Amino acid sequence: MAADDMFYRLFFLLEKRKLCYHFSMSDGAKHNVDYLIIGGGIAGTTAAETIRNKDDSGTIAIVSKEPHVLYSRVLLPKYVEGALSRAQVFLRTVEDYNKRNISLYLEEEATVLDLKRNEVRTRRGTLFFYKQLLIAAGGHAKPWRVEGSETVPITRFQTINDADALYSKLSEKHKQEVVLVGGGFIALELINALVPRGVSMIHCLISEKRYWQDYMDTEGSVLLETHLERKGVIFHHNELATRVRQDEKGTITVFTGRNTSYAADVLAVGVGLDREVETFRDIGMEVNRGIITNEFLETTTEHIWAAGDVAENYHPVFEQHLLTGNWNNAFLQGRIVGLNMAASHMKTGHRHAFTYVPLYAIDVLGMHIAFLGDVSGAIQHTNRTYISRFQEGAWYERFGMEDGKLVSAVFINKFKDKRVIELLIKEQRDCVSYIPYLSDPSVTLADYIT
Ligand SMILES: Cc1cc2nc3c(=O)[nH]c(=O)nc-3n(C[C@H](O)[C@H](O)[C@H](O)COP(=O)(O)OP(=O)(O)OC[C@H]3O[C@@H](n4cnc5c(N)ncnc54)[C@H](O)[C@@H]3O)c2cc1C
Repeated sequence: MAADDMFYRLFFLLEKRKLCYHFSMSDGAKHNVDYLIIGGGIAGTTAAETIRNKDDSGTIAIVSKEPHVLYSRVLLPKYVEGALSRAQVFLRTVEDYNKRNISLYLEEEATVLDLKRNEVRTRRGTLFFYKQLLIAAGGHAKPWRVEGSETVPITRFQTINDADALYSKLSEKHKQEVVLVGGGFIALELINALVPRGVSMIHCLISEKRYWQDYMDTEGSVLLETHLERKGVIFHHNELATRVRQDEKGTITVFTGRNTSYAADVLAVGVGLDREVETFRDIGMEVNRGIITNEFLETTTEHIWAAGDVAENYHPVFEQHLLTGNWNNAFLQGRIVGLNMAASHMKTGHRHAFTYVPLYAIDVLGMHIAFLGDVSGAIQHTNRTYISRFQEGAWYERFGMEDGKLVSAVFINKFKDKRVIELLIKEQRDCVSYIPYLSDPSVTLADYIT
């Protein structure tokens, strides 16, 4: 373990002891607060800080299931890789919350919300009475169950605890072999962490016939897969894991529906995110895959708001509800919802609509990828048509259109036109006349469209 990591662990233990006092005081206690925030991730923390900037006397409390102050999930692959120390992943200290007079209740999971009494109860029995409530509870790794999975160690990659476990596992011995199940964003984040740590082989099992087949056409998938194959990742398409087993030496074997098997030292699974909505379902507010909000991020219950990954917010640009899972979106929603909660509580100012165009940017071992707009899969949008252009082996772009207007874009390794495309999506400009440009790889849109 690096010296600064050891230092940090020590620091963190001390930090936790300080907070323990806070825990015991809060156990079974009752708190009346003006603003209660469920979830201490980027959306919840940004909201709390924005509220404090607007309202210097209102009481603010954050309850967070995790035992940590705010950290960056985006930086977790860099930590596992060894490029960043554990301490560098943390974005706040306990002092930061104290200075802003924000009460932080760690390891407190909200389990009951009573809309009539404006009351939240935690698993430990603490009661909070709120005037404004924000649900910024994010999501958790989608459960993955196949025969034998309950008895085999499985690496997930959602929290810093998951990252700690993976970091330690990879430190045990060199040249490990990994089986990676899943073909989405988290699988790429795992690849980002695993390859630089020098694992000897990664078998990536995906149930589709190519990577991201819902988001890109063949040229895009081939560009991505070829890049990763050069880094040592082996893709196995149309492979569905059906059974896992671990032998007495620790080797894990994954069996698939096609009677193939893959042996590995580490089994990692990245099959998507389920939103933390179950506590809030069937209690009177509208909940779909996420918590339904209007464009101001207010839920169907007055004075209760939702932001970040958990929110399924009405987006005026797309004229529909969007479920978005990215850091930038969570941060910006935290800011907007904080402004709106303070305005609602203080009965001042006007409410702000959330109109930012979603952007997910990821760097996969030197390949730059961005998803802009409503990129939800083609299956969900039968009325959507796609135009793509590319230079083989170099870059790829795909644009989604509905009723002659741009709604989504995927960029790989080329971003010259990102700003123009963002503008066209945001303004919902009629783009039919631009179709020849959008499909011509030699055209830079900025030369023609302003
Ligand atoms: C490994 C990894 C890499 C990523 N990389 C990128 C990237 O490169 N670019 C990008 O844009 N996005 C990336 N993301 C996604 C991004 O991190 C998320 O979109 C963002 O963190 C969402 O923030 P949030 O505040 O909405 O939710 P979260 O960060 O999930 O925070 C919610 C918090 O609420 C807590 N909570 C849940 N339920 C309760 C409850 N009942 N009571 C109390 N607390 C509760 C949770 O434990 C959690 O701490 C990555 C995610 C992961 C896991």
